[in-house]
Amino acid sequence: MIFRKKHLNFLIICILAIPALIEAASLSRRSFSQDLAAAQAAQDTDQQQASFCLVIDPGHGGKDSGVLFGATLAEKTLTLSLARKLQELIDSDPELNIKVVLTRVEDQDLPLDRRAAIANHHRADLFLSIHFGSYLYPALDSMQIFIADYSSEELEYLSMINESWSLMQSKHLAESREFGRYIEQAVRASGAFAAVNFLKAPIYFLKGASMAAVEVEAGFAPSEENINKLESEDYQWQLAKILLQGIVSFLNKDQEQSQFSPSSEFSPPAEIDRVRENLYGQGTRQEQEQ
Ligand SMILES: [Zn+2]
Repeated sequence: MIFRKKHLNFLIICILAIPALIEAASLSRRSFSQDLAAAQAAQDTDQQQASFCLVIDPGHGGKDSGVLFGATLAEKTLTLSLARKLQELIDSDPELNIKVVLTRVEDQDLPLDRRAAIANHHRADLFLSIHFGSYLYPALDSMQIFIADYSSEELEYLSMINESWSLMQSKHLAESREFGRYIEQAVRASGAFAAVNFLKAPIYFLKGASMAAVEVEAGFAPSEENINKLESEDYQWQLAKILLQGIVSFLNKDQEQSQFSPSSEFSPPAEIDRVRENLYGQGTRQEQEQ
């Protein structure tokens, strides 16, 4: 009798508990589906963020000031300022789906080989190194675009000694050339520079990059007037917009291919080649259409 009563009590408890159990199961299901939706949304966001990754390298930094313009303006300050503006433009437009990483965010020392290594670490799609220059041509208002270059002897030698780090960029030169061409196109379309030079040179800090990699020398300051221009916020925002145009065009190239025809109508003065050779070595030369 006692045994039966125990069972009866248990049965009553179970019956009373059924609505609560159903509610709990329902809640649990809702919670699970909500969690799933949240996880999916988070993943979607991650995927969106991961659509493209651009690493911007503000040239120089810390003890390395780069070129000094006038008495106080250092190239390292300009490169960081322009890199931040480009980052701000991209971050303010989520539809671009470009994640931006800066190799340095303050005035700090950063070895040359660390710069491409940071881009490789982030598995970046694009690596853009920003520099400014100073030449002795008062009328020269030009943008220089560089991709890495290897001589056949160098490639052979690096392969022989299994120098894989230095060979990385050699596998991406076609993409780099295309990336550079799109930037060149954006610079020409802007009309902001009297001249655009697309060059290739044995640039050390590009050679470790395992993705499309370009260096720009975004303006020159041979005179006081140009220094004021380089320093102005308006000019830097204009430069940032031009670079962004080149980046977006490159990333959307499959949709835009039919509208784009790279131009190489400008031939730089012979003096530029000589200056380049002094700066980057004898391998510097005008990039050819391929
Ligand atoms: Zn520089």
